[in-house]
Amino acid sequence: MGGRIYDAISRLSCLTVSAFFDRDEGKTEYKSLPVYHKDFYRQYLEEKGNVILVIGLPDETGEIVKKEFASAYGLDTGCCKLYSEFVMHDFPIMALYQSNRVFLDSISMIITEQCTLKCEKCAIMLPYFKKAEQYPLERLKQDADELFSKVDLIGNYTLTGGEPLLSRDLAEMIRYLGENYRTQIGSFKIITNGTVLPSQELLDLMQQYEMAVDISDYTAGVPAIKPRVDEVREMFERAGIPTYFLSSAQWVDFGFESVDHHYSCSQLQAFFNYCHTRCRGYAGGKIRYCINAYFAERTLNGREDVNNTFDIFMMGNSEEERKRLVEFDLGYNGSGFLGMCQHCNGTCEINTHFIEVGKQCSSH
Ligand code: SF4
Ligand code: SF4
Repeated sequence: MGGRIYDAISRLSCLTVSAFFDRDEGKTEYKSLPVYHKDFYRQYLEEKGNVILVIGLPDETGEIVKKEFASAYGLDTGCCKLYSEFVMHDFPIMALYQSNRVFLDSISMIITEQCTLKCEKCAIMLPYFKKAEQYPLERLKQDADELFSKVDLIGNYTLTGGEPLLSRDLAEMIRYLGENYRTQIGSFKIITNGTVLPSQELLDLMQQYEMAVDISDYTAGVPAIKPRVDEVREMFERAGIPTYFLSSAQWVDFGFESVDHHYSCSQLQAFFNYCHTRCRGYAGGKIRYCINAYFAERTLNGREDVNNTFDIFMMGNSEEERKRLVEFDLGYNGSGFLGMCQHCNGTCEINTHFIEVGKQCSSH
């Protein structure tokens, strides 16, 4: 995470990264900069004065470190930032206003709607689609061309589905993105349910373009897939691909098909802000602020919420247009909420409607 912040700052802003801090005394250099032990921070502050400390850790552990630093060194919130606060709020604004560059923290590109599983509470309601589409390769390439002509850097770019390994074009799409846009992508990965074996070509390309893989673990709900998931995991690991196994004891129910809060506009605005979803999706040349709301709306009422949609092909190249995109990504829209927020329990971080992981539809 520290490396990703460094890359983004160096490429898109006037700020300078001067050093890294770590708990590990054995580390001395990273990205040609000094790495100091965290206890050296007091002395460093006295020498350097005006510095911002960005904590390159996930929020939960980052909060603990932030409190530790704040009390030890009397730092205020302006000069000690969580990774998410920095890359999802401060940095996109700095990059835009200082350097006229567009930085988006995270985008998932949907390459197929087909899947090997039929999870009853699929967060994108896939089992309820009338027709699950396989997006054509030429269209995927055009969408990528348009996106990377408008955006300078995307912190995390994920190829997803459905189950992306079902796409016959996955390897070619990785080759295309790797060859043409790898320098505009921070972390590049795929997310899979681990039920489809990767080909050697896919593994080689993932290695070549320094990709990682997230394997969502559905084995609690579908024990029969465990041997296959273990095999898939082993194949990625053996190929040297950084592999993250996302085990989860519980899922949450978004509730799209059953919830109706009857909230007022101001309550919806507050709820939308509180939810603060990070799940941006890209499909058909449009970014959806909340990919879950997009698929729910499409499945349940066939409508498209304009507040949830940014059409990349309709975007011009002016500074104003770039601001419009960054503002959309930061959560600014015409009404201050999405239509689906009225029918949603919120994203994982705020939702306590826990359900069984990966329970399959009874027809499966
Ligand atoms: S594995 Fe389950 S949750 Fe994931 S996309 Fe497929 S149906 Fe949806
Ligand atoms: S409340 Fe639900 S629909 Fe609204 S942004 Fe959050 S996850 Fe999306």
